[in-house]
Amino acid sequence: MATRDITRFWEWGRKIICVGRNYADHARELKNAVPAEPVLFLKLPSAYLKEGSPIRVPRYCSVLHHEVELGVVVGKGGASIPRGSAMDHVAGYALCLDMTARDVQDECKSKGLPWTLAKAFDTSCPVSEFIPREKVPDPGNVKLWLKVNGQLRQEGCTDQMIFSVPYLVSYISEIITLEEGDLILTGTPKGVSAVQEHDELQAGMGDFMTMTFRVNRQDQS
Ligand code: MG
Repeated sequence: MATRDITRFWEWGRKIICVGRNYADHARELKNAVPAEPVLFLKLPSAYLKEGSPIRVPRYCSVLHHEVELGVVVGKGGASIPRGSAMDHVAGYALCLDMTARDVQDECKSKGLPWTLAKAFDTSCPVSEFIPREKVPDPGNVKLWLKVNGQLRQEGCTDQMIFSVPYLVSYISEIITLEEGDLILTGTPKGVSAVQEHDELQAGMGDFMTMTFRVNRQDQS
């Protein structure tokens, strides 16, 4: 087995745990209640996508939304991690997109069905290069933005998160044992919107990370 290089966590990390509705403004824009406890769902490692490859719109999806998010890369695994030592388990961060088949998710929600088709399809988790923890002294104060074809759609700051990074690490680890290489997506600020084939998505975190992806239909290269 290849050495576990945390700066290439997407090649071997086993879990992607996502938090929904973690920004009040975003919960409201989708007419969801602001949650009293984190809303969790999962993506799979097959959803990872790196720059240079296109985001695919699934054949069954007609409304694909972007969600720009702070990703937390787990360094040291653990279960039932106390909030006070949660940051000891964080190796670093990544700028991430939680690509969402919104029409499918709305249908799943109305039927009480799981979100797998809406959230976990291949290419639904574009990620940036690994960002070492030292680069982000306060994960509770990181600016995130996303442009589609040069137009600003999302602009927010992690200081608007309902549940903080240490809270989420601790909360999730009570339910799911965290392992080195796991990724936690911490939710998106308001401004989500639909993207079309051939659109260019550019996302940024603070003044130290940007990434760019193109969108294609699934049946094209
Ligand atoms: Mg999300």
